[in-house]
Amino acid sequence: MDYEVDRKTQWIADELQTLQESGLFNQIPVIESAMGGRIRIGGKELINFCANDYLGLANHPRLQQAARDAIEKYGIGPGAVRSIAGTNVLHQQLEERLASFKGADACITFQSGFTANLATIPALVGRGDVIFSDRLNHASIIDGCRLSRATIVAYEHNDVDDLQEKIRQTTEYGRRLIVTDGVFSMDGDIAPLPAIYEVANEHGIMLMVDDAHGEGVLGRNGRGIVDHFDLHGKIDVEIGTMSKAFGVVGGIVAGKRVIIDWLRQRGRPFLFSSAMTIPDTAACLEAVDLLESSGELVQALWANAKLMKAEMQKMGFDIGHSETPIIPLMLGDVKLARQFSKELLENGVFAMAIGYPTVPEGKARVRVMNTAAHSQADLEEALGTFQLVGRKLGVID
Ligand code: PMP
Repeated sequence: MDYEVDRKTQWIADELQTLQESGLFNQIPVIESAMGGRIRIGGKELINFCANDYLGLANHPRLQQAARDAIEKYGIGPGAVRSIAGTNVLHQQLEERLASFKGADACITFQSGFTANLATIPALVGRGDVIFSDRLNHASIIDGCRLSRATIVAYEHNDVDDLQEKIRQTTEYGRRLIVTDGVFSMDGDIAPLPAIYEVANEHGIMLMVDDAHGEGVLGRNGRGIVDHFDLHGKIDVEIGTMSKAFGVVGGIVAGKRVIIDWLRQRGRPFLFSSAMTIPDTAACLEAVDLLESSGELVQALWANAKLMKAEMQKMGFDIGHSETPIIPLMLGDVKLARQFSKELLENGVFAMAIGYPTVPEGKARVRVMNTAAHSQADLEEALGTFQLVGRKLGVID
C-alpha cells in the first residue's frame, strides 16, 4: 500500500510495511451475509468456525424482534453517559435480569467486555497495590491491570502452587487482587477456580474471574463458570461479555453489591462513555430470557463440539487439551497453520490460523470455534475438508 506520508508519519508506513513483509499484517475478511454457521465472504459461502457466537444468537429471530420492538418504543441511542443523562429502563432491567441469571447480588453493564475489564480493575486496585494475574490472561485484563498502576505479578498458567508461592513472596502491598480468565480462549481450558478461591480466601485477597468464554457455555443453561463450579457468593467479581454467546455486544460485571455500587461511582467507562444502545440492550434481555427458559441451544453447542473433537481425534489431529467447545488444532509451525487455514478457505471452511505473539512460538494452531448454529451437514462437510487439507499438508495420514 502506498500511503501519503510526511516526516512525522513515515515511521507508521514503515511499520505497516514490516508487518506486510513478515506476514503479520491483519487483513480483515469482509462478511457479506448475516452471522451464522454459514457465512459469505468474497461471494463464496463458507462454513464458519471463527465466530464466538456459541449459541447462534447473533441472528436469532427472537433477538431481532426484541431489538425492533425496542427501537419502536425507545429509539436507538442512549443519549449520553448514564451518570449524566439518566439510564434507560431497559439497562436497569438487563442488569437485574443478569444478576438473577448468574445468581449474583448485583450487576452493572458496560459497552463491551473489554471496557468492563478496563473499568473494574483500576476501580479495585491502584498504586501501591498488587495484582496476581494468570500469565495467559486476555489482553483486556492485562490492559486493565496496567491502567490501574498496581504492581502486576504474573503466575504460571493455571498453576495454583505458583500462585501460592508468588503470594507468599510478595510482602509489600496495599490491597490485593487475583485475576484469571475463566475459559482461556486460545486453548479452551478452564481455570481451576475452586482451588484459586481457596487460596484467595486463605489470604483474604479479592478474586475476579473473566467469564467471557464461559457465559452461555458452562453451568446450568449457560449461567457460566461460577455456576459450573457452584461458587455462588464466593467470587467477588465476575466479568462477562454479551458479544459472544449472547450474540450481541456489551460487557457485564456481576458480583457483590458493594463492588457493583462502587463501579457506578468509579468505573471510568461507565462515567465517561455512553451506554449500550437500546436495540443491543433489548436483544440481550431477550437472550437472557431465551437461555433461562431452555437449555436446548447449550446442549446443541456441546453435542456439536463433542462430535467435532471425537472425529478430529479419530483422524489423527492433535487437538490440545480443550475442556470447552473451542478446538485448537495444534500445528506448531506458523507457516503451516497459515497454509492450513488458506487451504480450508479455498475448500469452503473459515477457520483462523493463530500464531505468535497471540500464542507461544512453535505453538501455532488453527482455532475451530464450534457453535449451536452448525447443522449436522455443516459438520460432516467441514470434517471432510479438515481431513482433505490435513492429508494434503502431511499433518495426518
Ligand atoms: N475477555 C476475554 C477473556 C475475551 O476473550 C474477550 C473477547 N475476545 C473480551 C474480554 C472482550 O470482550 P468484548 O468483545 O465484549 O469486548
